[in-house]
Amino acid sequence: MPDNIENIQQKIEDLRKELHQHNENYYLLDTPTISDFDFDMLLEELRDLEAKYPEFYDENSPTMRVGGGITKVFPTVQHRFRMYSLDNSYDFDDLEDWEKRIIKAIDEPVEFVAELKYDGASISILYENGKLVQAVTRGDGFQGDEITANVRTISDVPLKLKGDFPAHFFMRGEIYLTRKNFDKINKQREEDGLDPFMNPRNTASGSLKMQHSGEVRKRGLSSVLYQYISEEIPAESHWELLEKAKSWGFKTSQQAKLCKTLAEVKEFISYWDIERHNLPFEIDGIVLKVNSLKQQRQLGYTAKSPRWAMAYKFKAEKVETELQTVSYQVGRTGAITPVANLKPVLLAGTIVKRASLHNEDIIKKLDLHEHDFVYVEKGGEIIPKIVGVNTEKRTAESKEIEYIKHCPECGTELVKIEDQAIHFCPNELHCPPQVVGRMIHYVSRKALNIDNLGSETIEQLYRERLIENPADFYVLKKEQLLPLERMAEKSAQNIISGIEKSKEIPFEKVLYGIGIKHVGETVAKKLVKNFPTIEELKNATVEELCQVEDIGTKIAVSIAEFFANPENILMIERLKSYGVQLEKGESTNEVLSNVLDGKTFLFTGKLSLFTREAAEEMVEKHGGKNISAVSKNLNYLVVGEKAGSKLKKAQDIGTIEILDEQQFLDLIEKK
Ligand code: AMP
Ligand code: ZN
Repeated sequence: MPDNIENIQQKIEDLRKELHQHNENYYLLDTPTISDFDFDMLLEELRDLEAKYPEFYDENSPTMRVGGGITKVFPTVQHRFRMYSLDNSYDFDDLEDWEKRIIKAIDEPVEFVAELKYDGASISILYENGKLVQAVTRGDGFQGDEITANVRTISDVPLKLKGDFPAHFFMRGEIYLTRKNFDKINKQREEDGLDPFMNPRNTASGSLKMQHSGEVRKRGLSSVLYQYISEEIPAESHWELLEKAKSWGFKTSQQAKLCKTLAEVKEFISYWDIERHNLPFEIDGIVLKVNSLKQQRQLGYTAKSPRWAMAYKFKAEKVETELQTVSYQVGRTGAITPVANLKPVLLAGTIVKRASLHNEDIIKKLDLHEHDFVYVEKGGEIIPKIVGVNTEKRTAESKEIEYIKHCPECGTELVKIEDQAIHFCPNELHCPPQVVGRMIHYVSRKALNIDNLGSETIEQLYRERLIENPADFYVLKKEQLLPLERMAEKSAQNIISGIEKSKEIPFEKVLYGIGIKHVGETVAKKLVKNFPTIEELKNATVEELCQVEDIGTKIAVSIAEFFANPENILMIERLKSYGVQLEKGESTNEVLSNVLDGKTFLFTGKLSLFTREAAEEMVEKHGGKNISAVSKNLNYLVVGEKAGSKLKKAQDIGTIEILDEQQFLDLIEKK
């Protein structure tokens, strides 16, 4: 059946609709109706069609969720309706006063909607004709940053609405991270040798401002939408608006409750004050809103906040205890974190012995003295913090806490980086935690990907003086590993083979892995494109480096400094002598034969004999070309298990040769 263009457009639209619905079933209704695999197949089918027919581009297509684009600067956008703050209350007396003020102003009974106060980053999303058009951060309430592409990657934010929605409106809500995803991110950061993030809220707002939307996607953010705003108001009450928003496809709060009286509000608050600890995400209070929109209009706004809404902040639990000592931890990046060691005390159900002090400025602000009695609080942060000092218990001879001047691990004089409150140990190459951090980074997944070599093993090896920098991995022997604690023959062998295998890892990943400051994955790729060998990179001047797209002075200087250090040069020479890839291409441009000369290939389905990357590499090494969609230009479609739409399409076209994996290998073997 020849496809006419209208059929194709229809097909694309049907697929989009179907995928939007599956997305909603999964993320909002929690009742998926197809398997992940089938979902992926549909998505792949849509992606292929979109690639082939770019004229049907849609920025709200389900394929946009995966991200991939880069935003360099987030443009500033004026809020059409100001994003106000909320007034705070801390006890029931405050709430009663608030109700009295309301009744005095409107002289009518009031109903309230009680909602959880999500601890994330607030957002305003514009929908026009049922399509997500723009997403903006709160900023200062008058204007914020446009982060549309990043918000599109958040699974439970609808890109297309359904039902009877107004043509033009804003939905406001909160973007947050569940505790589970927060822990997952930190676990991965630890594996990658990075310092952990402090709390879910900051991580959520930081994630929204990342330049790579694909990275935002990986963070696993969630949304909850709690406010409809527009000139056109299709309801009489806030509660109705929430229900409508839900029917249009927004994730609204499951816990929100319509309360007829303030007594019900108090009950709601008391319940969540305890139950909040069992929620999968963090909240820092309750938000109360007058339900009637007419009453809301009558009440209006103060200079700062609506009179019809009120935040009720939960009390962070607070206890007093003695500060015993302050110790200083050196992170894997060299950052110093002061830690208060406390006389153990019970706080919010757990025994607390330590509290983070973050940095010198905070110690100064607290005016902390030795053996002070301090107030410790557990708020949104995972680690409790010191919020004040009971100066009455301070003795006259007690001395101020003096911040250290030298690294507690290696004795080097600390430096403080401009614009940052944090001290660093500059002794990157010899300060123990930094040395270990660098090696953990080297073996991490995105660098040399040496499986089986976890951070604990690296620490052990370092303690045993068997390794000090990445080059040392390559002279390790199995016999040296075996005496280590909990090291079985098999694991030792796996480590050695993993190290051996890492010699095939391409230059760009090695360059990322050797840990030049400010050289991340993307920068490494760009560098390799422009300087295909480490020699060329080493000899490049700062000016030459700066000519590369995306590379500014900061990065260029850091690269130059790296190569100016003889110890680094020695390490590079050693890596080279062990056979680690320090120039581009060897593995990718190598020509093995020309049996596939001029032929085009595409792989589909689940491959079991080789990975897709390996297969594509083989095609290139034998003179063939990989293309990304099924069309008349395709010569061979190689199908794995459960191949879907591509196979069908190829069969329809009729001129494409269809191979299984073994047949593909046979083709190459012909040479
Ligand atoms: P504050 O930052 O303390 O003035 O509190 C206002 C902020 O609370 C808003 O900017 C929102 O980000 C956040 N918030 C969390 N949950 C809600 C909710 N259910 N309704 C309104 N605001 C909320
Ligand atoms: Zn140090």
